[in-house]
Amino acid sequence: MKEYDYIVVGGGSGGIASANRAGMYGAKVLLIEGNKIGGTCVNVGCVPKKVMWQASSMLEMIERDASSYGIQADVEKFDFKQLVERREKYIDFLHGAYDRGLDSNHVERIAGYATFKSDHVISVNGEEYTAPHILIATGGRPSQMQIPGGEFAIDSNGFFELTEQPKAVVVLGAGYIAAELSGVLQGMGTQVSWAFRYDRPLRTFDSMLADNLMEIYRDNQMKLYDHHVAKEIKQNADGTYTVYFENGNTLSGDQVLFAGGRLPNTDKIGLENTSVTLNEKGFVIVDKFQNTTSEGVYAVGDVIGKIDLTPVAIAAGRRLSERIFNGKSEEFLDYENVPTVIFTHPTMATIGLTEAAAIERHGKEQIKVYRSRFTPMYFALSDYRQKCEMKLVCLGEEEKIIGLHAIGIGTDEMLQGFAVAIKMGATKKDFDDTVAIHPTGSEELVTMR
Ligand code: FAD
Ligand code: NDP
Repeated sequence: MKEYDYIVVGGGSGGIASANRAGMYGAKVLLIEGNKIGGTCVNVGCVPKKVMWQASSMLEMIERDASSYGIQADVEKFDFKQLVERREKYIDFLHGAYDRGLDSNHVERIAGYATFKSDHVISVNGEEYTAPHILIATGGRPSQMQIPGGEFAIDSNGFFELTEQPKAVVVLGAGYIAAELSGVLQGMGTQVSWAFRYDRPLRTFDSMLADNLMEIYRDNQMKLYDHHVAKEIKQNADGTYTVYFENGNTLSGDQVLFAGGRLPNTDKIGLENTSVTLNEKGFVIVDKFQNTTSEGVYAVGDVIGKIDLTPVAIAAGRRLSERIFNGKSEEFLDYENVPTVIFTHPTMATIGLTEAAAIERHGKEQIKVYRSRFTPMYFALSDYRQKCEMKLVCLGEEEKIIGLHAIGIGTDEMLQGFAVAIKMGATKKDFDDTVAIHPTGSEELVTMR
């Protein structure tokens, strides 16, 4: 049986980052990946999504906004197929970059699906491998709609397989992916009907964000349907699909897209042969050091079901390798105050507690909220006056900032710097003491009264 210092199962964001960091410190590392190197983010997540978001934003800029600056520009042709081909070529380029990075850290690779034979024995392609340290970084996959005809709905993987732009799409779901892909498609000229189960989407975020998003999406001709629970999907004779809802309504489109969360890849990797424990949803249980319940077996990324973001998987993977292979015995990832952006149209940026969560945790009298709602200068000359709204949630007398939420053009690139300040414990006074940059949208965050 071949022996390594470290075996990493899963070559996505978390696995690659951890393997590279261990390799950098001279560990003998084996990385096992069953599909394409890069995992979800590179192949069917952040990267292709951002490309589609950029394309959609450009179309909006040309078709909706340019004329307000006296620019008369019509889109002669939007070649969806060409966009997809160019996107995939870029992803191929990234595969090469990941391979070169792993080579430079002497990380050995095997293409194949790994299973655990026991806590420290991994089988792949009929061979067995062992290591004192093993990382589970197998990520997740989209959940399927559990209703009759649910198989007719495509998921985010199916979205990235499309080579023709659909004319009309029914989107079901209420999280990041439904919000993002609805916006991408509508911006490209597809008629989107977005149906969600409750009064609003993105219920775990500050409600200000969804309130603005719904208004903006409606202004941009998207059709939104709240309190819509799907009960069946049927294929029509012309190849289109109709979704039937519990309230009697129906919605039709040439595609139905379902984005209702993700499932962990823990069911087919032989964990029953180990002492690794899963929670009731199948995610790997870990402590703050990413240790599973089996000594020397660790887990990072989507497979632990904590915060499903690429930089979180990367940060956890790297810190783990620092701890095991670089003697930093106290190194771990702090999962508090992780900034995140939803690539809607316009984007949303958020860190920390929502207003509601802050009040629940600290009491209403301890929380002060500052808000600003304005029309960004980008729309100054336009009849279409899309709003930007920002909110600071502050705690106690010193007004420590424990939540920042913003929706509007440019907020995606605003948050990172503010996240540093918040992570360092910034107060409202620190924000006030910082001179604004004018004219920008972010200056609102340091001038709120
Ligand atoms: P993954 O990247 O999923 O990697 C797991 C890898 O393990 C896969 O390559 C899989 O093939 C492999 N694997 C599974 N089982 C085995 C096995 N038995 N043997 C060998 N290999 C195996 N996050 C952001 O931060 N920003 C974004 O903009 C963003 N956009 C997203 C858009 C979409 C549509 C989706 C779906 C996700 C997005 N995410 C985004 C989330 C991000 O992609 C994930 O959080 C991240 O990829 C998780 O990394 P991971 O290493 O845990 O898992
Ligand atoms: P999310 O967990 O974000 O949202 C899924 C939501 O869909 C649920 O909260 C639920 O909301 C709704 N839902 C669940 N089941 C059903 C159902 N049967 N019918 C209708 N609606 C349903 O999952 P996503 O799939 O959108 O994304 C997965 C994760 O990937 C995200 O949580 C995020 O961490 C990551 N991601 C990150 C991105 C980024 O960083 N920009 C972009 C894309 C993904 P409700 O209860 O209100 O109905």
